[in-house]
Amino acid sequence: MSSTPEPAAAAATSLSPLALKPREERRLQAGHLWIFSNEVDVEATPLTAFTPGDIVQVRSSGDRFLGYAYVNPRSLISARVLGRDPDYPPGKSLLVHRLKVALALRKRFHVEPFYRLAFGEGDLLPGLVVDRYGDVLVAQAATAGMDAMKGDIEDALVKVVAPKGLLWKNDSPMRELEGLERGVATAFGTVPDYVDVPEGGVNFHVPLAAGQKTGWYFDQSANRALVARHAAGARVLDVFSYAGAFGLQAKRAGAAAVTCVDSSKGALEAASATADANGLEVELLEGDAFETLEALAAERRRFDLVVVDPPAFIKRKKDHPKGLAAYRRINQLAMQLIDRDGLLMSCSCSYHLAPGELVDAVQRAARHQGRFVQLVSVGGQAPDHPVHPAIDETRYLRAFLFRVSGG
Ligand code: SAH
Repeated sequence: MSSTPEPAAAAATSLSPLALKPREERRLQAGHLWIFSNEVDVEATPLTAFTPGDIVQVRSSGDRFLGYAYVNPRSLISARVLGRDPDYPPGKSLLVHRLKVALALRKRFHVEPFYRLAFGEGDLLPGLVVDRYGDVLVAQAATAGMDAMKGDIEDALVKVVAPKGLLWKNDSPMRELEGLERGVATAFGTVPDYVDVPEGGVNFHVPLAAGQKTGWYFDQSANRALVARHAAGARVLDVFSYAGAFGLQAKRAGAAAVTCVDSSKGALEAASATADANGLEVELLEGDAFETLEALAAERRRFDLVVVDPPAFIKRKKDHPKGLAAYRRINQLAMQLIDRDGLLMSCSCSYHLAPGELVDAVQRAARHQGRFVQLVSVGGQAPDHPVHPAIDETRYLRAFLFRVSGG
């Protein structure tokens, strides 16, 4: 064996240990990245001794090295694993490695550089999201651990993609659960207010700092392409349209008419600018989706293809009963507006809504109105949001295409 000193051993011994209770290493061994507070041997290694964001070496009750992790004693998820190779402690070179692996996946699926480059746990980068808009990046750090590595993340992104600008869009309310401030700031370079995002033959006018999330919902790209394939000649209703991604691609694909509904004025302004710049006609209805769909039903409007893509109605498990009722209601309202032999694309981005619950919500809506629905396509998040098979929370997007007949 080599006689050169092992950096691994050095790194592993210089970092504070986080000891697990007996048998609590099993989830990690199955591939999961999270450690909950009740799994930590707090007598051996009190969580209160750590500052949010501290890097530790995780050790089994038998004192075996299990991996490197960052800690947040304030969070229910006390630690998240960053790596299991003792030779690669967290830092710039581990981040460069992870980002290169992530980039290679995106390059397999995308011709143009517009995608989610890093999807948190799904890319073994827990708590970090990076979206790529050509040569501009928009990043979000959701945890104290990732926030503490901001400098290294910036350096690693420069090394891997050499962007012209990077925006930290750290405005998610989830940050407060980690004890972090919220804010939006340019890390370096120039970040324009708007970028053009090419998708489905349309150049979308997308606000970055002023937009929702990082500016664009890349997770729905495959489902938008599916809807576009069925749009020719159809009257399309895009409910919760944001910047019109579903509707305007459907129009480009030959839809007879497109109506977008959203409560956000800014979102519809972006949709309007895109429609003008691309020579596409669209009807924009600003307002609450529930009320607007009721009004459309009262006017006896009918559509051939309806997309329902609401915000997460179930953000926390405790919201489940109320959220489920909202999914049922919005699908019922949508069902009323679908003409004979139409299509319904029903989506949910709530992890806590089980896929079967959304299918059931649509089936109930159909029965309620004496319609017959058939599930013809099951979709999910696009490949730039890779699912970590051991972490079910990374599989959050449900998208079901139904054929609606009868009634
Ligand atoms: N379909 C979009 C993403 C939708 S995100 C796409 O593919 O890009 C959810 C959207 O719902 C947001 O644009 C938000 O402004 C809108 N929204 C949230 N609550 C709403 C409500 N009660 N009525 C109408 N729109 C709402």
